[in-house]
Amino acid sequence: MDDDLLDRLGLPRIRPAWAWLVGAGPGDPGLLAALRLRASTGAGVILYDALVDESLLALAGGEKIYAGKRAGVRSCKQDEISDLLVTLAKEGKRVLRLKGGDPFVFGRGGEEAQALAHAGVPFRIVPGITAGIGGLAYAGIPVTHRDTNHAVTFITGHGIDGKLTKLDWAAVSRGAPTLVLYMARKFAGEIAQDLMEAGRPASEPAAIVANAARADQEVIVTTLGGLASAAENAPALAIIVIGGNVGLAKELSWLAGTP
Ligand code: SAH
Repeated sequence: MDDDLLDRLGLPRIRPAWAWLVGAGPGDPGLLAALRLRASTGAGVILYDALVDESLLALAGGEKIYAGKRAGVRSCKQDEISDLLVTLAKEGKRVLRLKGGDPFVFGRGGEEAQALAHAGVPFRIVPGITAGIGGLAYAGIPVTHRDTNHAVTFITGHGIDGKLTKLDWAAVSRGAPTLVLYMARKFAGEIAQDLMEAGRPASEPAAIVANAARADQEVIVTTLGGLASAAENAPALAIIVIGGNVGLAKELSWLAGTP
């Protein structure tokens, strides 16, 4: 999409001394919002996180700064990232903060936006396709389906302290037929145990969608009872989904058939 078309669509550009918090989607560059493309062409400086694919960065101009958290790579503290966003915008730069998935879904985009708001930096949020919806779609799993679930719960398995999220798992188990878990691979066994103790059957379908919407996507279909061992062998970047809609993947998985 060239700048001309983006102009005809009437899309705004990042203005100097503004920051845009933008979601890059789960992987496939085809899932980018047009506004995100607009942001890349106009950005003066790009702060990107660990989940953003390198190929997406190649699309963008501007100075690039890694501002993510990843084992083995220099990690940035959340406060430092927020401070840097504010400082760069205050210097008059056009700041693009690029995050995996959607910036407001378990991605601390809310905290970064608060820092900008408190500092009086004008900003825009460009939502992205979150792994827990779009990533599942790449595995042929509709996040809702009339036959299986009228509600869905999104959960992070990891609290801010790196421990299992403190949740009322019994309430969670009753709350919605479908549970979508981010950052939950490490604690998958404990979570499954808690849910089964709360009455969810061990035979309930579950799936691990690893590297969703990426070239190396892997879908592991299992059950709640089998989740612990399935998770042990799964790649690190994974969404877990528990519920009857997992069964639809048999019929709907489409990615393998695409050229
Ligand atoms: N803001 C992101 C989520 C960040 S939390 C979003 O909206 O998608 C990071 C977690 O997201 C990972 O631990 C994993 O559970 C999930 N995730 C993000 N991208 C993924 C992908 N391509 N495949 C599978 N899981 C993914």
